[in-house]
Amino acid sequence: IGLVEKADPELAAAMDRELARQRENIELIASENIVSPAVMAAMGSILTNKYAEGLPGKRYYGGCAYVDEVENIAIQRACKLFGAKYANVQPHSGAQANLAVYFALLDLGDTVMGMDLSQGGHLTHGSPVNMSGKNYHFVSYGVGEDGRIDYAELEKQVRKVRPRMIVAGASAYPRAIDFEKLAEIAHGYGAFLMVDMAHIAGLVAGGMHQSPVPYADVVTTTTHKTLRGPRGGLILTNNAVLAKRINSAVFPGTQGGPLEHVIAAKAVCFGEALKPEFKDYARKIVENAQAMAAELQARGVKLVSGGTDNHLMLLDLRDEECTGKELEARLDSVHITANKNTVPGETRSPFVTSGVRLGTPAVTTRGMGEAEMKVIADCIADCIWHYDEKKDDISARVLALTKAFPLYE
Ligand code: PLP
Repeated sequence: IGLVEKADPELAAAMDRELARQRENIELIASENIVSPAVMAAMGSILTNKYAEGLPGKRYYGGCAYVDEVENIAIQRACKLFGAKYANVQPHSGAQANLAVYFALLDLGDTVMGMDLSQGGHLTHGSPVNMSGKNYHFVSYGVGEDGRIDYAELEKQVRKVRPRMIVAGASAYPRAIDFEKLAEIAHGYGAFLMVDMAHIAGLVAGGMHQSPVPYADVVTTTTHKTLRGPRGGLILTNNAVLAKRINSAVFPGTQGGPLEHVIAAKAVCFGEALKPEFKDYARKIVENAQAMAAELQARGVKLVSGGTDNHLMLLDLRDEECTGKELEARLDSVHITANKNTVPGETRSPFVTSGVRLGTPAVTTRGMGEAEMKVIADCIADCIWHYDEKKDDISARVLALTKAFPLYE
């Protein structure tokens, strides 16, 4: 920010305010994290100057020898980290990665099954407002009464719908997903299985969630959630034929020049995730989520599916006066950042909702542990039931916590 300040004080002031917000607030948005200074330095580097359409060794521009090295390091590390044969590290985002896979494997109008947005899926898994839902005939599946995927029910639906592809993975699903089972179902009916592991990629890398790579035909992910890298996407496969089709679908199919500075930051992130310490990090994310969930439940807060296996949980506020929207605003006012979310069996509008999604990747990166999760859970429970009388006290507890775990100092 110092360098920006000299050239552009107006912009630097806004960036400074955002830094202060990140320092002061407890970040519980399940899809966010805090990158290392090395990841950030790679992103803000001279590599942004280079055009490199194509793949390493097969570029449409001169001068690519060194960005080829950068991209090859990223590809090799991604393959090693996830045990995959082929990786495309160029997708600008998770949405771009998903779009490219659909473009590579499907024909317009094909039938695809994806998890319903209101039950935990992502926009790119067939929402009618997204290109996925407009270009393909998506049929959605959801969760059972217990908030979990019912694999027998899913198989029944697959038998009826006969999709060309099943998309697995979610943005707000607190339980482990059985990718082996999903592959058995998909392949049993001649369908592709695409797993979008964006939310859990760091847990997969750290051995805290079953890897989809041995089972799925294609795996997509973002690199900026539990994986703790730069904002971006990644596509993995073990299938040589699909790998070729995917490479063409990324470029020239859906993108132009790759962001080599972001690819370099992805390489740094994969390198960090390959270190033994990352296993501890992934374990702590899950332990922290479970500690937070247990304390919330001890305070009487209901959770969708009754708990969590991963990095996130969903508060179920259907029986409460306080809506998801209201709780998000109350949390914001006491320096806790989270997002409202629909819950299975939602009774309120998607703009109001009866849920709030909480995740532990960022607070775990910050060094917080189970004791701090209890404090945070108590602050949240107090926001639901005692906000008016305790607002200042909750805010003070939060600020004491963030002060004790400094950020970027
Ligand atoms: N897939 C899943 C499961 C996600 O949760 C998200 C983002 O939240 C995406 C894809 C999209 O990623 P991006 O925002 O990088 O396009």
